[in-house]
Amino acid sequence: MTKRKGIETLSQMDQLMSTICQCGGPKKKRHPFCIACYKLLPRVKRYALYAPLGDGYAAVYDDALKYLKKVKGLEPNEMVFHL
Ligand SMILES: [Zn+2]
Repeated sequence: MTKRKGIETLSQMDQLMSTICQCGGPKKKRHPFCIACYKLLPRVKRYALYAPLGDGYAAVYDDALKYLKKVKGLEPNEMVFHL
């Protein structure tokens, strides 16, 4: 099994089916994030993640991930926010 790092190398679907959250903690399959990360998300972003998989999901997931990275300080705030 190859070691991968970061969401940038994973497709959203791979990540969704993974049992490891972006933060390194355990999560359930088909859940976008672990409970700890999920709780950090604003309600509006949580609801957005419940949307059926489709055109909008990648953007919603990406948005939530960027938010988490910013909140947790996982990365310097180098990404461009497009809200
Ligand atoms: Zn997490």
